[in-house]
Amino acid sequence: MSAPFEPACRRTEWLDPFYKAVWEKAFAEAIPISGTFELTPRCNFDCRMCYVHLKDEQIPEYGTELTAKEWLRIAREAKDAGTTWLCVTGGEPLLHPEFETIWKELAQMGFFITLQTNASVIRGKTAELLAQYPPKGVKVTLYGSNDEVYEKVCRVKWGFTRVDEGLRMLREMNIPVQLVSTIIRQNEDDVEKMAFYAYRNNLPWMATGSVKASARVADSEAREVRVQEKLDGQQRERIRRSLEKTPFDTERKPCTYCKDYRLGYWVTWNGEMRFCSFMNEPNIPVRDLAFSEAWRQLVQYEEELDWPKECKSCSVRRACVKCAATLATECGSPHRVTEEFCNKVKQFYNERRGE
Ligand code: SF4
Ligand code: SF4
Repeated sequence: MSAPFEPACRRTEWLDPFYKAVWEKAFAEAIPISGTFELTPRCNFDCRMCYVHLKDEQIPEYGTELTAKEWLRIAREAKDAGTTWLCVTGGEPLLHPEFETIWKELAQMGFFITLQTNASVIRGKTAELLAQYPPKGVKVTLYGSNDEVYEKVCRVKWGFTRVDEGLRMLREMNIPVQLVSTIIRQNEDDVEKMAFYAYRNNLPWMATGSVKASARVADSEAREVRVQEKLDGQQRERIRRSLEKTPFDTERKPCTYCKDYRLGYWVTWNGEMRFCSFMNEPNIPVRDLAFSEAWRQLVQYEEELDWPKECKSCSVRRACVKCAATLATECGSPHRVTEEFCNKVKQFYNERRGE
């Protein structure tokens, strides 16, 4: 273990001393207490900033989806290894061809399940299934307050109308819902209306303007549509204050900054176990391995991954706030830096010094 346990995680359960004690024990013993199953890259939306969605005809180029049988074998072994919290996501997870079988079985295994969905296909049989086997909570991505904005962000017709209908179904089933929004150039003018929609429907809402470029799919427009650059003023102040308190420490290995370090894992739709959804490695084939062996290899990867040698002696290393996924998405790999990225960081640093 190369870093102490710290409450870097934003899980609300940690507010409860009992759950906090459970997570501390899991960290000490490297128990995979929390997992994410990314069921499928399929989605009926085509969001510009998405890092995982593939069109049906692109899927074979990237791999084969895990079947219900494969997911359930992994789930059973994960449960035996200690997984308690499980997030089911996608793509749009409800579009996995065997979603019904997977969901029924997972729900009966006793996990605390959070379903992450765009809510647009929650109707008919799918709604009945969720009513019969309700998750602990649902995170719904909200990308606009009307159909026009959805058309710009998600490139679909009647997107908002369908999401609004799905949310109404979830409320009728009394399933706790949280709205999460990614703000990009195409919906930044709609933020207040989205906030009002959440308020009017009495739903908790979280929005972020932080968008990572994708290291996983080729045609994401994340880099072009993100609004981070516009937030520089606020970010600078925030970064300046936090760096004054605790400068970035390259002696600490990259994964130790990650909330899932020694605690959680992500299984991609094509059967790779990783620690982060934005990364394109490690490719631990949990499809072919026992879960416990895949987890052992993941923890080993987390302990061994280090910053590129350039970062160790860099003049701005204490001000360069990044994670392994930042390097994977901005520089193409967590093992290297590019001149373009470092020049941007140095320019940012020098401007800030002059303020
Ligand atoms: S709804 Fe989610 S999974 Fe589907 S394209 Fe949009 S961001 Fe990607
Ligand atoms: S500027 Fe580049 S070399 Fe320097 S710490 Fe940041 S990523 Fe590493």
